Amino acid sequence: QKAEWSLLKDAETVTVDGKHFELAANIGTPKDIEGVNDNGAEAIGLYRTEFLYMDSDHFPTEDEQYVAYKAVLEGMNGKPVVVRTMDIGGDKKLPYFKLPDEMNPFLGWRALRISLSEGGDTMFRTQLRALLRASVHGHLRIMFPMVALVAEFRKAKSIYDEERANLKAEGVAVADNIEVGIMIEIPAAAVLADQFAKEVDFFSIGTNDLIQYTMAADRMNQKVSYLYQPYNPSILRLINNVIKASHAEGKWTGMCGAMAGDQTAVPLLMGMGLDEFSMSSTSVLQTRSLMKRLDSKKMEELAQKALTETSTVDEVLALVDEYTK
Ligand code: PEP
Ligand code: MG
Repeated sequence: QKAEWSLLKDAETVTVDGKHFELAANIGTPKDIEGVNDNGAEAIGLYRTEFLYMDSDHFPTEDEQYVAYKAVLEGMNGKPVVVRTMDIGGDKKLPYFKLPDEMNPFLGWRALRISLSEGGDTMFRTQLRALLRASVHGHLRIMFPMVALVAEFRKAKSIYDEERANLKAEGVAVADNIEVGIMIEIPAAAVLADQFAKEVDFFSIGTNDLIQYTMAADRMNQKVSYLYQPYNPSILRLINNVIKASHAEGKWTGMCGAMAGDQTAVPLLMGMGLDEFSMSSTSVLQTRSLMKRLDSKKMEELAQKALTETSTVDEVLALVDEYTK
């Protein structure tokens, strides 16, 4: 099977009936680019920049960040790269930055909430400047994590616009086709997706967090893993709502949580019209092989049934089985 997959490295990701899906990879550092290219990914759908901060003994400077972002953009040779601004907090700690002790760190001060805070915004501006400077070396897409409010997106976007204007005033070249989007990983944002869709360029669904927040079940806790299931009809409806809301505004939706590379979930997501699937590099070829065997119209029928006629995980799984065998 591995041999069959390796033949697909340079193949297009199209279904039997000719529908294209963007198959992307997740990375944590510029070193991961080799694996991305070896596995024939068409893009990077999530660059988790927090590793840049976690692997350092100080806040990475603008120049240090610029070097990393430039390496990733150049390494992808003009293919799109979604860079997520820092997602510190939750379980991600920095040795040189004291986070407050919190009863529930995953419900606390993390990610964009830090970036938009007084003091935290300095780090955020530094990161945005490094990204904007690197943008001329490839195809950059920027994404904000843990957005719950439209107001948070507006504030983040206005800081981005300010830094962009500052750089231009300093005579620094900046690409003019940078898309700015958000992660959908908080249920509130998924529910309000129609409003977000009017203001963002794209969505990327972070199912790792979206599932845990929707089901109120810790993604690491085995005792509640029966709740933490991507195939729950509630989760499927939420995801479908987000995809449809983006399309209604002419925007696109990707997914960068583990569900995007889950071979049982992929047929359902194809049927819902998810535009981009971002996963660990090692799952890309297997997923391309699967997609090439499926018919997009049939997957639409599958998704429609799963969304309207199921109320349990088992019923969803039985449907996927029926439609993909
Ligand atoms: C997610 O929440 O699905 C996601 C991709 O982000 P992370 O796993 O880094 O929290
Ligand atoms: Mg997340």
